[in-house]
This record gives sequence, C-alpha cells and structure tokens, in this order.
Amino acid sequence: MRLWERSLKELSELVRKKEVKPSEIVSSFIDRKNQVDSKIKAFVSYTDELSLEEAKKKDEEIVKLDNIPSLYGMPIAIKDNISTKGIRTTCSSKMLENFTPVYDATVIEKLKSQGYIIFGKTNLDEFAMGSSTENSAFFTTKNPWDLERVPGGSSGGSAAAVASGQALASLGSDTGGSIRQPAAFCGVVGLKPTYGRVSRYGLVAFASSLDQIGPITRTVEDTAILMNVISGKDSRDSTSKDIPVEDFTQFLNRDIKGLKIGIPKEYFPEDLDNHIRERILNVVKQLEKEGAVVEEISLPYTKYAIETYYIIAPSEASSNLARFDGVRYGYRTKEYSDLEEMYSKTRDEGFGPEVKRRIMIGTYVLSSGYYDAYYLKAQKVRTLIYKDFMNAFENVDVIITPTTPDVAFKIGEKSSDPIQMYLSDIFTVSVNLATVPAINVPCGLKDNLPIGLQIIGKPFDEGTILNVAKKVEDLSGFKLKFFNY
Ligand code: GLN
Repeated sequence: MRLWERSLKELSELVRKKEVKPSEIVSSFIDRKNQVDSKIKAFVSYTDELSLEEAKKKDEEIVKLDNIPSLYGMPIAIKDNISTKGIRTTCSSKMLENFTPVYDATVIEKLKSQGYIIFGKTNLDEFAMGSSTENSAFFTTKNPWDLERVPGGSSGGSAAAVASGQALASLGSDTGGSIRQPAAFCGVVGLKPTYGRVSRYGLVAFASSLDQIGPITRTVEDTAILMNVISGKDSRDSTSKDIPVEDFTQFLNRDIKGLKIGIPKEYFPEDLDNHIRERILNVVKQLEKEGAVVEEISLPYTKYAIETYYIIAPSEASSNLARFDGVRYGYRTKEYSDLEEMYSKTRDEGFGPEVKRRIMIGTYVLSSGYYDAYYLKAQKVRTLIYKDFMNAFENVDVIITPTTPDVAFKIGEKSSDPIQMYLSDIFTVSVNLATVPAINVPCGLKDNLPIGLQIIGKPFDEGTILNVAKKVEDLSGFKLKFFNY
C-alpha cells in the first residue's frame, strides 16, 4: 500500500514510531496530486514547496522529540474560505482572488500546534453558496467516482481531495450541508459539529448563526482525531461554547446495546429513491441486531426547513458580504468616476450570479415592510424546527436519515435551476437550523456511486454520533476506492 492510501491514524502511528518521515508522506501526496489533480481539480492553490519545506523541518525536529503531537507531519487540505496566514484565501471568488490573510483562523493555529502540514487550499462554491462547486468563480471540481458528476458542495474540493487520495484529510465548512453532502457524494466521512463546538474565528462568514467548520476524512476514527484538535472555546469567537472536549476516540468502540435510534418519517418520503431507502434501512437493521432500539419518530416542521434556511442564510449573507466594497478587501474595479460607482462596479464585477442572487434575496427579506413577513417569520419557524429536534431527543439518542435524496448528480444537471439545486439540501439544512451535530458516513453504492447515511445527535454529543458512525462503517462493508484517471 502506498503512503497516500493510508489513514491518518495509520500514518501518524508510523511517524510516531519513527518508521516513516514526514517528508516521505508529503512527497507521496504530492506525487498522487500531480497524477490526478489535472482531472479532479480539487485545489485552488497548491502549497507544494511550503508543505515540503515544513516536512523537512519536521524530519530533523522529530529526532529530538519525546512526545510527538497527534498530527505531526500529517498533510491536511484546507477549504479556501478558512484564513491561512501568508497563503492566498480566495473563497473561490474573483472578489478575493488575490487576497492573502495576515492571520490564521483558530482552527489552523490548533492544527499547527499539533504539528500538521498544510496541503493546499481547496475549491468551493463561491463564498460557500452552493451544492456542487459549479458556483466557483474558477472551475468545477469533478467527482472522483465519475468525472462527469459533481463532487457536491460547497466543500466539494475538500471532499474530492480526500476521496481521490490527494489529501489525507481536510477541513470544510457547513452552513446547510456543505460538509455532509459532498462527503456523501464522494464516499468519505464528514462531520458538522454542534454550533459553538468549533471556533469560527478566521472562517470567512457566510451565515454566522449557521456556519461551522468540521473535518472530512476517510475513516470515522480520523474524524474523531481531528475533532479532538479543533474543538473548544475560543475567546475570539463569542459564540463558541465552554464545554469540555472529551477524547472523541474513546467513544468509538462502545457497546450500542439499548441505544435508541429515531427514524424520522419525513426523511423517508414516498418519492425517496428506493435504492437509497433500502440501503439506509438495511444498515439500521444491522444496528438493531447489535442491540440498538429503533423507533419511528416525527419532525413535522422539517417540511419548512428549505424555505426557512433560504431566508435566514441569505439575510445573514447579505449583511456579511457588505464588507466587500473595494475599500478594505480584495478586488476593486479599474475605472470609476465617484465612490458610489466604485462600490457598485466592484460588487458587480467581483461577485458571481449565485452570490448576487443571495444578496438580493437577503436585502429584500430584511427590508422594512417585508422583515416581519419573511425574516421574522423564518426565525419563528427556526425555533419550531429546533423544538422538533429537542422533543425527539427526549426519547431517542440519535436520529438516522439519508444525507441526500440521491447520489451525485451530473455536472450541469441542476445549475440552471436554483430551486432544484436548493432542494438537494433537503435532509441537511434542518440540522444547521437546529444547531445540532451530524455526520455523514458512506454506507453503500448505487450505480457505482456512494450513498451517504446521516447520523444526527444531541447538542454537544458528537461522541455518540461518532460511535454509531463507527458501527455503520464496520457493518456496511463500504470501501473507499482509489481510481486512476
Ligand atoms: N448548499 C447550501 C447553500 O447553498 C449549503 C451551503 C453550505 O453549507 N455552505 O447554501
């Protein structure tokens, strides 16, 4: 087995035993990337020189170390909306095409403190708005299982990099499904932590009350290892919570006897693809055999989740994106006669069509006269959606659903119809509205494309969903495949 094919857990053990050098690992990933990324197009920026330089430094340093930190020498790719000091951070937008942050996001500082090595910045839908990476201002990333299909989005580059063997693991961000949906489409694991579990400091804000950073990895255990590093209170993000961070790997091999699993009927509608339904319910049966207790539940307000999300997220986006005015950040139009024209031409030329659509929807629903009818109402429905989940969690420990209504769709299939694109988020957005954690685990194939199973947990109970995810991983028999293109 080549180094790039192994898991983070395996490689970090090899490094700790000093059997493999960080530079050998990084070189192996650079080779793989050079072989396949011209086809996959997962990265907006490569960091080969820097990654190799860091790795060589670590080769020397490790000789003197007694305690080797958990991510020592591990190459990890970062979604290009997470600030990396001295490394271009574009949000896949023309607006920030030449923007280089002067500070690191908190998650990056934390990864650095554990000895990680940055391995490239990955492609996304512009400002994380989308479900396919087709909204990237630069190019569309391809699904490693079928180059004619989308990898999902918005963290499509992060998921495709991991699934195609180009990065050991990656970080993504999830506002309405952007970690879980691409993980599902690419056959990898992706966790959206509870809102407040991971600091958002340095994440370019899309919808601040929904955004969370989380890991995308090849195994459940690797996600647990990364969660151990990135979680925790940060004084620079007042919405991060001071809740003790347990060692998430300790949850992984716990017995699930008596664990209560809720199956919400609204997430298995009649028109759900049969293959997906059967595969998910089959895995649930296997969990039942291991001693879990399964019961049907109802989350009735889910039927309003898409509408609610597509009012709240654009509202917050329209406010967050007001800062891109050609003065403080990024792009500025070349010719203008006064300030007003400078603002408007800058924003017209710097933002793509989906971002503009969201800004227009957001400013509309926030404007006086419409605020109560749309924004305020959406906030009230959000509370009802939250209460749905809290009621359900009085009786069950976790909730299982499909992550997506179907497997990866074809490039171009939905890009001209925003409503169809929004509907592909139907099983993921409610989780962000309710602030709860959820994980995608691959659980099978349909027409040679991965099927994703979603496990939703109680607030700050990432440990339990990781445990159930590990069981699904072991029982389902799914294996990530690496292809040559
Ligand atoms: N697809 C959703 C959207 O377009 C979610 C994006 C995300 O989670 N960043 O808003």
